[in-house]
Amino acid sequence: MKVTVLGCGSSQGTPSAGGFWGKCDPDNPKNHRTRASILVQSETTNLLIDATVDLRTHLNRMNLKKLDGVLLTHDHSDHVNGLDDLKPIAYHSNSLLDVYSRHETLEEIDRRWPYLFRPKADGIYVEFLRKNPVDYYQELRIGDIDIATFEQDHTTCSTLGFRFGKFAYSVDVADLNEAALEALEGVDIWIIDALAYHKEAVLTHANFQRVFKWVERLKPKMTYLTVLNTHMDYDTLCDELPPHIRPAYDGLIIDTETNQR
Ligand SMILES: [Zn+2]
Repeated sequence: MKVTVLGCGSSQGTPSAGGFWGKCDPDNPKNHRTRASILVQSETTNLLIDATVDLRTHLNRMNLKKLDGVLLTHDHSDHVNGLDDLKPIAYHSNSLLDVYSRHETLEEIDRRWPYLFRPKADGIYVEFLRKNPVDYYQELRIGDIDIATFEQDHTTCSTLGFRFGKFAYSVDVADLNEAALEALEGVDIWIIDALAYHKEAVLTHANFQRVFKWVERLKPKMTYLTVLNTHMDYDTLCDELPPHIRPAYDGLIIDTETNQR
């Protein structure tokens, strides 16, 4: 299985609109961050995690024309506002594209944009997505990829964490309860939200201290930090972090079998 980090930025991206780089060095391409999303691929199956406003850029960078499913962590705008960009993918496959998330998330998206899932009364525009509700601590298989879900605390709401064998993806998480940590036991490679250095700064995302505590317990072979805001300069992070914890960057590709980048 191959995992590509399509984007590892916070909701604002780096630089944020207006060209605000914060503490990030604009000359380092690894500081150019689109909104957080990954692609999980086997030989035959392509799964997209989250549909950000940078989705069109992501799919075109990958020259990706086929998706077997889209998994949504939650309904915050930076994770779902790119759903429209899935239309050409669905049209070219001549079928509805399956979207997987919690029932509540799918219904909220349906409330915002009903045309995604249902034809409009004028008969001109047709739907192109299909809802597939999944819950916390559920196992499912899409194509030839097995997935297990778990619950994450995002302070203002809960989000879906996804595990794919020895790899797990945790974005928009401020805290993890015991059940979530048990679901993550044995993970070799973990991409985890670490928006900022200090918990006091951001209540809705994890910080260094929490990530270090979780890594100490779970002992993944490699941990990659994502959802990085403009305070998180790539080279500075590399200097500060131990070698088994690295900042992610847009375009990072991980082979989950060999743990090779
Ligand atoms: Zn969020």
